[in-house]
Amino acid sequence: MLDADFFRRWMTATAMSVDREAERLTALDSPIGDADHGSNLQRGFTAVAAALEKEAPATPGAVLILAGRQLISTVGGASGPLYGTLLRRTGKALGDDGEVSEGQLAEALRAGVDAVMALGGAAPGDKTMIDALVPAVDALDAGFGAARAAAEEGALATTPLQARKGRASYLGERSIGHQDPGATSSALLIAGLCEAEE
Ligand code: ADP
Ligand code: MG
Ligand code: MG
Repeated sequence: MLDADFFRRWMTATAMSVDREAERLTALDSPIGDADHGSNLQRGFTAVAAALEKEAPATPGAVLILAGRQLISTVGGASGPLYGTLLRRTGKALGDDGEVSEGQLAEALRAGVDAVMALGGAAPGDKTMIDALVPAVDALDAGFGAARAAAEEGALATTPLQARKGRASYLGERSIGHQDPGATSSALLIAGLCEAEE
């Protein structure tokens, strides 16, 4: 079973990897965006880690709802409301339970990813964070390690795609040949599940 502390470790592990990878995320956002994805998420997850240290919510759901709220209020870019919705919706789906199973988490994350698709209008293959998140959720039944591998593979597989959503879509065919920054950061988020488990 996964308790609130597991979810706090997930968020702080993600904050640390986003911090470590911020330059790479911004560099990926340079040819097909406005070179701010790393700094956007760094600001957002720094606020998430600070808020969780201050408040220490008692349930898994409350941890993710607080994290999502921080992302929405601190990240200016498209990714803030999208990641914020992902975490808030996932948290809401977890309800008030003090501990949740991996199966419950998989189901809740599915609801979160569906909410991101409803908000942003992106489908798999549009070269967005969805291309890492959907395969990760599909693989989650096989464990966190499988989800991480699927997310990383999904992020790499965005390179040959033409962007159909977000800023990169303005480039049309010129978006082809570059890895999507949001899919790359989504793989970091999913990898955080493995780090929280250790
Ligand atoms: P901005 O484009 O506003 O500068 P960021 O650079 O922080 O925002 O985030 C860009 C990332 O957000 C993209 O790489 C993509 O993965 C994701 N993204 C953008 N628009 C959408 C959308 N409509 N649906 C899903 N993801 C999206
Ligand atoms: Mg950007
Ligand atoms: Mg921007």
